[in-house]
Amino acid sequence: MSANRRDFIRFVVAGAVAAGCPLDTSLLAAPVPAATVDGEENKICHQVRDGKVFAHPAASAKHDIVIVGGGMSGLTAAYLLRDKDFLLLEKEPHFGGNAFLMEFEGQAYATGSAFADSEIATSLAKEVGLEPLPVDNFDPTILNGEFVADTWGDGIDKLPYSQGVREAFKKFRKELLAIDLDRKGAELSDVPLTDLMKAYPPELKQWWDGYGQSSWGSRSEDSPASAGVYEMQWMAGPNRKDDRHTWPGGLGALSKQLVEVLKPQHSDRMVTGATIVAVANAKNDVSVTYLEGGELKTVTAKAVIMATPKFITRRIVEGLPEKLNDAMQQMRYIPYALVNLIFDKEVYRKGYDTWCPGSSFTDFIVADWVVRNQPAYKPKYNILSCYTPLVEEERRKLLTEDGARKLAANVLMDFQKLLPSTHVDPVEVHIFRRGHPMYMSLPGFYTKVQPSLREPVDRVFFANTDSEGPYSSTTYAITAARRAVKQLEDKLAGRPSSFSRGLQLEVS
Ligand SMILES: Cc1cc2nc3c(=O)[nH]c(=O)nc-3n(C[C@H](O)[C@H](O)[C@H](O)COP(=O)(O)OP(=O)(O)OC[C@H]3O[C@@H](n4cnc5c(N)ncnc54)[C@H](O)[C@@H]3O)c2cc1C
Repeated sequence: MSANRRDFIRFVVAGAVAAGCPLDTSLLAAPVPAATVDGEENKICHQVRDGKVFAHPAASAKHDIVIVGGGMSGLTAAYLLRDKDFLLLEKEPHFGGNAFLMEFEGQAYATGSAFADSEIATSLAKEVGLEPLPVDNFDPTILNGEFVADTWGDGIDKLPYSQGVREAFKKFRKELLAIDLDRKGAELSDVPLTDLMKAYPPELKQWWDGYGQSSWGSRSEDSPASAGVYEMQWMAGPNRKDDRHTWPGGLGALSKQLVEVLKPQHSDRMVTGATIVAVANAKNDVSVTYLEGGELKTVTAKAVIMATPKFITRRIVEGLPEKLNDAMQQMRYIPYALVNLIFDKEVYRKGYDTWCPGSSFTDFIVADWVVRNQPAYKPKYNILSCYTPLVEEERRKLLTEDGARKLAANVLMDFQKLLPSTHVDPVEVHIFRRGHPMYMSLPGFYTKVQPSLREPVDRVFFANTDSEGPYSSTTYAITAARRAVKQLEDKLAGRPSSFSRGLQLEVS
């Protein structure tokens, strides 16, 4: 793309980047439209990360339950506790966390989470009045200028590889389909996917590297083998069915709906722009200290649900038992950008989630896929969301606006090379960057590390998708919230928890 052509395309950078913490607004040197910049005061998070001890002012309010973090997990907890005296605190200016949608001239697109993959997520959606719309399209691949529908189904014979590589893909499929996950699942959770790829050509690993990094944060050598087997059995098993559902804007539509359902009655108890800096168990309550509008405040609660990711949770909750602190510290999170390409003409609607091995992004989705055929639907724009997970060494690319723009420009250039029909200039390019949104599914973590992350510490309970596993998803964010709410209710009712024994903390 020439410099001149690039000048006609507007780049917008938004999102949360900095280490352990969201958006650094100071990095946004160029003026960007206020409505599309997702920002906050990140100095606070850095200070928490760097061990600053904040003053704990005297409590100014009392609630039964405080929920920290308003992503899918915190919102679900608030929904489950809607008849109780809860306070939900979120540091961003909006709720949703990694399930957050944005709009371009009224058309929604995802900035993160794309589709629901379980009854757990779809039934919650229905309960709050959002009808799930079926994806019904097994994933295609674009490779060497060719579009191949249903990659691991009929598509496998059409992949533009040599005959030998295609045969290797088929052999791999057969081997993974023959594995009994009920019997071997736990064992395969503890070994890398590459253990199943020995003696296969590099093209196979390249395909799965992209799929794993985008879907569960890890390339094949760092992925649990069980994840690959599970996905293959879903994509190519004898009873295969595409059971994914979504909405324009992806799962941001669900978090938005949860907010809309809760807000009318609870708006005074759902606070955005409130960054929690300390949570301390005391004998009969928990104190929660947060910064809101530059002011430090403390509230007390009978119990607290931490729905924040563990890399920040362990810095906030005081006096964690060593075992739990160690488990939280072991979790790893990848930097991840989403590049939304906005076209004012029809460019691509051949598949919902298309994989692009060898590109600077792993896959891209069509924002309005599930409504495209509705009779009254007349889209003005074709919005394509390119998933761009990065490895740790690439984190720096997101740290400056210039770096983020270059990344977005590379994504655009690679997208334009995919097919002759994608060689089109968008009217806008949006990059939404996040520093640590997705925890990596690593061999052994699900069986050995994550169980500890579900243990409450006295009156503090742990939600967030990273407590559950085996991979980061809305399903597990909801599951974590349900489990934490149940543990909390048992505790407040003086019942032994059916979920766990709980770790007891010595409190004064
Ligand atoms: C690019 C991408 C694509 C994905 N695609 C899918 C998909 O297609 N399907 C799927 O099911 N899942 C997908 N996921 C995973 C899914 O988005 C997450 O598992 C889910 O949204 C996690 O929700 P959560 O509430 O557990 O955590 P989060 O979304 O991380 O929410 C945590 C919240 O806590 C807030 N917070 C953090 N620190 C503080 C503090 N100190 N004070 C107050 N608030 C704080 C954060 O701002 C955030 O809002 C994807 C994730 C990413 C990043």
